[in-house]
Amino acid sequence: MSSHLKDTFKHKGKRKILIAELVEMGIKDQAILDAFNEVPRHFFLDLAFDEQAYTNMAFQIGSGQTISHPFTVAFQTQLLDLHKAEKVLEIGTGSGFQTCILCKLGVRVYTIERHHDLHDKARRMLTFLNLNARMNFGDGYKGMPSHAPFDKILVTCGAPEIPEELLKQLKIGGLMVIPVGEGKEQKMLRIKKIAEDDVDIEEFGTFKFVPMLERTVK
Ligand code: SAH
Repeated sequence: MSSHLKDTFKHKGKRKILIAELVEMGIKDQAILDAFNEVPRHFFLDLAFDEQAYTNMAFQIGSGQTISHPFTVAFQTQLLDLHKAEKVLEIGTGSGFQTCILCKLGVRVYTIERHHDLHDKARRMLTFLNLNARMNFGDGYKGMPSHAPFDKILVTCGAPEIPEELLKQLKIGGLMVIPVGEGKEQKMLRIKKIAEDDVDIEEFGTFKFVPMLERTVK
């Protein structure tokens, strides 16, 4: 295990400052703030970014992908309005940081990543942190039909449109939080499935995500 997988007082101190910033930016849910306090974000980054791990920035995590800004992770999580033991599907495991935040909130997590290297690395990190999620290598557009329906679905990559298949796998009454947009920017949407063929959609500002792409990469 690499030497930077130590959670020092310095890291913990910086984490407290980041959490204060998240509060300033409108994250009010104490359980989410506690989860941020418990997951060492620097473990998910290259040693080169160790000093900056607790700034509100995105970083490269390999395979051309990035770990989301802490605010974005907190904001999407807050929009999900989670309750313990709910079944949550995450599309875009990436570093696994968001996956860990979900685990700490006591929900049952299913996550999918299309890059094999990232999937594998994230899986090892969750094991190291003693956290339990069903981690799948696959194409998130397909969801996980064998485990559907889900109470909540969280998409952490920018989708050109709302994926129909994922909507099918959402419970009636369930929520999907997803950045949607064709170009470099997406609108953060929260979609409530109110009937088999009816949804309510709320919009929550503009964000920049890496694109949601089809097919897996070995
Ligand atoms: N939640 C992640 C965010 C990573 S960025 C984190 O906290 O680090 C988004 C991720 O979505 C990338 O790793 C990208 O490879 C992945 N992705 C893009 N399209 C996908 C798809 N169709 N299925 C699964 N993962 C996908």
